[in-house]
Amino acid sequence: MTALARIYTANYLFTGDAPPLVGGALLAVDGQIAAVGPLADVKRANPAVEIVDYPDAVITPLLINAHTHLELTDFPAWAKAAGEAAEPDGFVDWILRLIRIKRTLSKKHYDRSLLNGIQQSIAAGTGAVGDILSQHSCRRLYYGADLKGVLFLESLGRNPEIINHVKLELRSVLAEQQIGQVRLGLSPHSPYSISAAYLSDIYTKCRQEKLPCTTHLAESSAEVEFIMRSSGELASRFYPRVGWEYLIPPPSGCRPTEYLQQCGGLFPGNLLVHGVQLTTDEINLIAAARMHLVLCPRSNSRLKVGTAPVAKLLAAGVNLALGTDSMASNNNLSVWDEMAFAHRCFSGSLDAPTLLRMATLGGAEALGVEGRLGSLSTGKNASFQIPAEDRCCRK
Ligand SMILES: [Zn+2]
Repeated sequence: MTALARIYTANYLFTGDAPPLVGGALLAVDGQIAAVGPLADVKRANPAVEIVDYPDAVITPLLINAHTHLELTDFPAWAKAAGEAAEPDGFVDWILRLIRIKRTLSKKHYDRSLLNGIQQSIAAGTGAVGDILSQHSCRRLYYGADLKGVLFLESLGRNPEIINHVKLELRSVLAEQQIGQVRLGLSPHSPYSISAAYLSDIYTKCRQEKLPCTTHLAESSAEVEFIMRSSGELASRFYPRVGWEYLIPPPSGCRPTEYLQQCGGLFPGNLLVHGVQLTTDEINLIAAARMHLVLCPRSNSRLKVGTAPVAKLLAAGVNLALGTDSMASNNNLSVWDEMAFAHRCFSGSLDAPTLLRMATLGGAEALGVEGRLGSLSTGKNASFQIPAEDRCCRK
């Protein structure tokens, strides 16, 4: 059978692992990149191959949204329908509002919302996601979706009976390993919303079975206060709201990262998210464990939890990725818009090349898809985009 080959060229080719190449081109053969370089060189070596030219354009890699909750894409409409127009006042207020609104929903809502999230991500030029799913039965919507990455099945809870039931359900779902182009993994939600025993179990399972894992960590000062002293708004408002008022754990006296370490959660395959409240000592622990961290600056800004210590993280050598988080705390699912916001938010500590790396190779490494996506290099998938004002042309 004859191989399907094409040369793609534009004013600029940005491969993601080198400076932009003026008049660059890539040779795609059967969906894989076979060569990259100046158009004249690629043409000379492949004289019979058809050339597709995009004048006045830039060819760039698809972006990586390393942390999102696509099942919540319709959240703004749900909030309106539930009469929850008022913006929440801070982190715990936001969680309580999220719980109230989620209690008005059926599986149909989540199905439609997840489909919308997949479509909006693709339209925004995203090629892979680290997507958190609390409604595990919606996972089948990933069959046929043109998105790679990891679908993290979310777990939380403190009640041992309920936890045992969920563990059984997760065991059978995880046997599927892959849905469409996404791998299945686990997401213990956050150290404040899951018992230490269950958190340790999940980390042991992920390490032993090499399952992708992700954890929200050090997102808010309320979380730090709860982990260290078992007090604050999470103890006084969130725990009673979900019926856990008798399940508040004793104070650990630890920072969230130290607590995670005690639960066996510091390993490279546990993708950390947020890290807004990290201290220098915690950053050093994360760097020593060779862990990746996803920053979600627009979500952090909306929830008024602060700004991640980016300069310290970069200095410690932590690989950073970028995520939009969900539509419950963001305006859209565009990683381009997340980059634009981060450029303003972290001006002085994050330059444009570093941001582009976070949204491409950094994110691909964080999700373990760097062998196929993250840059336009020989041997990787020949999928790319031509960004434009209103939409991304995707190939
Ligand atoms: Zn999240």
